[in-house]
Amino acid sequence: KSFSDLGLNARLLANIQAKGYETLTTIQEQSILPLLDGRDMMAISKTGSGKTAAFLIPIIEHALKDPRNYTALVVTPTRELALQIEEEFKSLAAGLHLYSATFIGGTNINSDYRQLERKLQVVVGTPGRLLDLSDRKLLKLNQVNTLVLDEFDRMLDMGFVNDVKKLVNLIGKRDQTLLFSATLEPAQKQLISTLLHNPIEVIV
Ligand code: AMP
Repeated sequence: KSFSDLGLNARLLANIQAKGYETLTTIQEQSILPLLDGRDMMAISKTGSGKTAAFLIPIIEHALKDPRNYTALVVTPTRELALQIEEEFKSLAAGLHLYSATFIGGTNINSDYRQLERKLQVVVGTPGRLLDLSDRKLLKLNQVNTLVLDEFDRMLDMGFVNDVKKLVNLIGKRDQTLLFSATLEPAQKQLISTLLHNPIEVIV
């Protein structure tokens, strides 16, 4: 299957092609259409699978339908991963008038304030900084439509479990939740089942 078979916005399709993506990777093949339909997703996958574009392409389509009222929040364990995801978003969403920001620890929080003055369709960040901005009433987590928990196992390994639970509680009711993990520990299954509603399951 090729990207032109998915019924995507023409500009988004052109951006995908400009990146040199021709055929869908396995995870993209299995997830993009169900995600466009609004399904939740549980993916066991590693970096290198094309998972970032797999979740960003449906997010961009949803954002284009209602840019004023749509927000996706992508939560990652590390600053590096957050920045990579925002880079991928910026190239896929070039020229579409959609806006993103990355909020990570170790940076001056004052520069986050300015970025939050405009409507953002995609917010990427690490758990601690996202909670900090929420505590300061700058980031409105209850407006998140799509929640992506990337490298979930690594977030738990790094001790972010309580931060992730707090974030999820502050977000509350949402349209869609996607969870990516390289491994699936039996001990995590209970928590995961509380986060996802009838998810598609993809193992790549
Ligand atoms: P990720 O697993 O999201 O970190 O992506 C791994 C690499 O694959 C990145 O360098 C992407 O730019 C690239 N990539 C993602 N989707 C495709 C695709 N459909 N065709 C070729 N490369 C891709």
